[in-house]
Amino acid sequence: MKCLYCGDKMEFKNTNIELCIENDIYVVKNVPAYVCERCGEKVIGQEVASRIYELISKKEAEAHIQVPVFEYA
Ligand SMILES: [Zn+2]
Repeated sequence: MKCLYCGDKMEFKNTNIELCIENDIYVVKNVPAYVCERCGEKVIGQEVASRIYELISKKEAEAHIQVPVFEYA
């Protein structure tokens, strides 16, 4: 599998995925995904994506982190 952005090789491994849903940031650890070795682009499968949404909506988070927010102005 090749990266859509830089065309480099993507490696299949477990990685942390950060996603933003309605202004909330979620981090899901150890997600099986294709990761681009050059630019860091991550691609997850449809099944993995549904599992992530299920986790976020049904399960209690393991930990909470604080995220600094800035306005670019
Ligand atoms: Zn890339």
